[in-house]
Amino acid sequence: MSLCAILKTILLLNGTSARTEVKLCKHCGKTFITKNIKAEYDTIQCKNRENINKSRKKKNNYIE
Ligand SMILES: [Zn+2]
Repeated sequence: MSLCAILKTILLLNGTSARTEVKLCKHCGKTFITKNIKAEYDTIQCKNRENINKSRKKKNNYIE
C-alpha cells in the first residue's frame, strides 16, 4: 500500500534470491536450489557418479 512497504518487500525478495541459487544438475539434469553458487550437482551421489564417469573417460582416452 505505501511505498515503504513495497520497497521492504522488494528488498526481502532480493535477499532471498541472493542467498539461494536455482541450478541444473550436470549429471541428471534436475533443477535444485542451493546456497552454494559453485554447486554443480543436486546430490553427492550425482557428483560421485559424474566424477567416476570423468575418470573412466580419461582412462579410456589414455588407452586409445
Ligand atoms: Zn543430479
